[in-house]
Amino acid sequence: MHPAARPTDANLLRGNLTIGDFALSICSDGTYLLDGGAMFGVVPKTLWQKRAPADDENRILLGLNTVVVRTGTATVVIETGIGDRQPEKMQQIHQNQARLPASLAAAGVSQHEVTHVINTHLHFDHCGWNTTSDPNGTIRPTFPNAQYFAHRGEVEHGHLQLDRDKVSYLSPNYDPLIATGQMTLLDDEMIRRDPAIVPGIGVELFPGHTAQMMGVHIESQGEHACYIGDLMPTSHHIEPTWVMGYDLDPLLCIAQRKRFLARAIPESWVVLFTHDHHVPAATLSLNDKGKPVATPYEIII
Ligand SMILES: [Zn+2]
Repeated sequence: MHPAARPTDANLLRGNLTIGDFALSICSDGTYLLDGGAMFGVVPKTLWQKRAPADDENRILLGLNTVVVRTGTATVVIETGIGDRQPEKMQQIHQNQARLPASLAAAGVSQHEVTHVINTHLHFDHCGWNTTSDPNGTIRPTFPNAQYFAHRGEVEHGHLQLDRDKVSYLSPNYDPLIATGQMTLLDDEMIRRDPAIVPGIGVELFPGHTAQMMGVHIESQGEHACYIGDLMPTSHHIEPTWVMGYDLDPLLCIAQRKRFLARAIPESWVVLFTHDHHVPAATLSLNDKGKPVATPYEIII
């Protein structure tokens, strides 16, 4: 067991911040453990372990951050963690805790008030609480009044059940919502025509981790935050070449990270990290060697 694996109730809510008129709460499904080598690809362990210490099974601690945005007319949930349907063997490996409902409650967010849910992609650790299974096995939407949004290409890729990544695509997280029309499947043309999900919140493709991974822009009154999904899962991944073993196209990831940094740094975006439990939000700048560095954003817990 990683020494920091279990967050306490006191730190379930990772922080609150405002972007213009919008109120953001960074909630959490808890933490989980993944292999450090897989998280840092070809980066030598001697380098990454200084930033992300590994346990005796080489696992590092990661967060599962869900961002809730209240715009005044909509309550938008970005990403829904791992959920509570993990098989026991996987739960033992990941040591995840299924805390998102408690975290939402700590933030004062009712599951019924949520109007929109956005999944950057459909890996198991990004859409697990899209649905909940009741005791007789019926799968229901966790957010009954919400419309869900994901990219059609992610669903199609998941349905292929390829050897490389079939364990990451669990259809109960999305197929029941698609069947009832509660999940809108976006495609490149729809996003190009109108990236907005609600006024001030829109999606943009940042491919590489998967072919159709999306970032989510949050903009109000000239302020800008971006939930960047697995393009940069933690603040340790802002260096363009520190890509993950999990990334399907690492070269494309590097190019997309550079494209992201070329806007996020000069425009002073608040970058929201999916899997950084300790630094869920940061601004980025370049140091005197030209390397990107993250400054944790002041958030109120
Ligand atoms: Zn992923």
